[in-house]
Amino acid sequence: MPIARVALPVAAATTFDYWVPEGLDVSPGRIVRVTLGARKVTGVVVAVGHDTSVAPEKLHPITDVLAVPPLPDDVLALAAFIASYYQETLGLALALAMPPTAGGGRRVRGAVVATWQLTPAGAQALPERVTRAPAARALFERFAHAERTLPASEAAALPPHQKRTLRAWREQGFVAGVPATDVGAAGMSHTLNDAQRIAVDEIAKADGTFTPFLLNGVTGSGKTDVYLAAAAPVFASGRQVLMLVPEINLTPQLVARVRHALPGLSVATLHSGLPAGERMAAWHAAAAGDAKLVLGTRLAVFAPMPALGLVVVDEEQDASYKQQDGVRYHARDAAVWRAHRRGVPVVLGSATPSLESWLHAREGRYRRLDLPVRADPRASPPRVALTPNRAARAQDGIGDRMREAIGARLARGEQSLVFVNRRGFAPSLVCASCRWEAQCPRCSARLTTHRDPPRLRCHHCGHAERVPAACPECGNVDLQPLGFGTQRLERALAAAFPAARIARVDRDTTQARHAFAAVRDQVGARTLDILVGTQMLAKGHDFPRLTLVCVLGADNALYSADFRATERLAALLMQVGGRAGRAGLPGEVIVQTDFPEHAAYAALVADDYGRFADALLAERQALELPPYTHAALLCADAHHRSDVDAFLAHAHAAGIALAADADPAVAVYSPVPALLARRAGLERGQIVVQSARRAALQRFLSAWRAALADIPGRRVRWALDVDPAGFG
Ligand SMILES: [Zn+2]
Ligand SMILES: [Zn+2]
Repeated sequence: MPIARVALPVAAATTFDYWVPEGLDVSPGRIVRVTLGARKVTGVVVAVGHDTSVAPEKLHPITDVLAVPPLPDDVLALAAFIASYYQETLGLALALAMPPTAGGGRRVRGAVVATWQLTPAGAQALPERVTRAPAARALFERFAHAERTLPASEAAALPPHQKRTLRAWREQGFVAGVPATDVGAAGMSHTLNDAQRIAVDEIAKADGTFTPFLLNGVTGSGKTDVYLAAAAPVFASGRQVLMLVPEINLTPQLVARVRHALPGLSVATLHSGLPAGERMAAWHAAAAGDAKLVLGTRLAVFAPMPALGLVVVDEEQDASYKQQDGVRYHARDAAVWRAHRRGVPVVLGSATPSLESWLHAREGRYRRLDLPVRADPRASPPRVALTPNRAARAQDGIGDRMREAIGARLARGEQSLVFVNRRGFAPSLVCASCRWEAQCPRCSARLTTHRDPPRLRCHHCGHAERVPAACPECGNVDLQPLGFGTQRLERALAAAFPAARIARVDRDTTQARHAFAAVRDQVGARTLDILVGTQMLAKGHDFPRLTLVCVLGADNALYSADFRATERLAALLMQVGGRAGRAGLPGEVIVQTDFPEHAAYAALVADDYGRFADALLAERQALELPPYTHAALLCADAHHRSDVDAFLAHAHAAGIALAADADPAVAVYSPVPALLARRAGLERGQIVVQSARRAALQRFLSAWRAALADIPGRRVRWALDVDPAGFG
């Protein structure tokens, strides 16, 4: 009796055996329905054999096999790598790779296929396979006679058994559909400059081999043109390209550029903001090889792609590639791993590369490709001015220099962007007499004052309450909002420039699906003069009439205890600064800061991120911080501090005992409260562990994780975070 080993999305670190009823087509990668206790669960078959240690009377059958293509080998391998590297169960890692509506399995077709084509994998594997199967051989010979293609009209007229064979080949990645008006001849819309040309040539030369590139290009240097030009020959040979982007909001814009540069190309987008039906269609189009470009956020790294030829990760430094809960994987690192497994080049693009990638390039593991100049020959780097913050506070945050500069833009019919990384009206509310401060009752954090409607809100847990009329401590009625958020600046700007058309962009104003696109259209149509908003505005949007960028409140990052805060600030400043003056009009950036000598601001003024990255790396090396060490975080939370402390004390003792044998050394630090010590009513604590060697840390973590599972104390929830985004 055949036995299938199934990985299920549960916390148990094991797979489960089921017997396979006759007539069910079960093989590794198949998505199946089974019973687990009283529940029905969807899981993935990881192996099929004849042995099991489960007693026959306890062995249950596979209930159903979903009518979706099986997960291909490299996706199964990627999930296994992620499970092992990030210390999660295989079932939970595989759940990330399952198609979006694995429960239903409704088949939705993607692009319209004109021609079926043998993939390189098919051309290699099929000749041998079909010698044993005469019926399949006949179908294969039709492909062989017609330059490896079969028109869809002919495929439709095939006898049923050959149609089944064709479907099987598609699912195995041996055959892919080519849409009606596909690529190849359609060139780029404009010519590339020398640096772009060299980059494209280097990537092309690496075709068919695992070669990681760091595409280091200043903002506006045309990285997207390089991606598309490098992808064009891959498309022309019938293969697929995977492109990851950090933000859902950027995908429609990028798709529009792709359609313009490569008309007729079939594109599948995959991100969590899409309705399940659309995501399912995209998943199928990717799996069948119909979609030539698969474009998406983090999760798209798991897309099944039988003819993968190139991987691109745009804005590789972006924090959103690291999942912050559940399986805490890093999609950029997963993309590099997958490219390695498939033997294809991977391009990591950024204007402000992560220190990890920068170090890889410096030490020769990644090949660096520089785009030092802006692609538009009329564009020059923006002029940068640092102005004091202190004087501005009295005037609702907007200093004289900023006010004059915005006024000048209004007079010339140009646009301004005012950036502050805080939504709401003011980040706190204080009593002028006794210094009472509004605190979240469930978090160790201040409440943010909001207007329209007036409310105190917690940005960590969502708690909201009425604004008190008087101080609850001393009865004083003079309660003052302290600091500046987007709402307050919007008001201040409206008061200073009554005739200006102003829009605010932050999480509060862009809840609706198309709200952000609407604002972008208004900016493009020049029906807006001033944009005020959070970091949503920092990325990738090109507005030719936008010539001024003002940055407020950036100094807050300098007070952060997170070791990555400075790196993030510099990246953000360079990104947001890059929005100014992208076409023929010169741009200006004004930053209000009380620390003009700080390295992050100096990098912006000098337009030299590389020097800044080198300086920061030297600092990290001296402090033995990532990327010079490899780190993991044990995070624990519970309703009572004593439970957290007791658990972490056990965990620490177990860790110290295990680390004693570790070679090279693994450092286990003492338990400390998290930066946000209480969130949503839960007390939080953590332990940092580090090692100079990744392998040593990995060995330690597997042993430690087993020990952690044995610590009594069910009231504590814990998780390991490998390569954490920060130590907070
Ligand atoms: Zn008071
Ligand atoms: Zn809260």
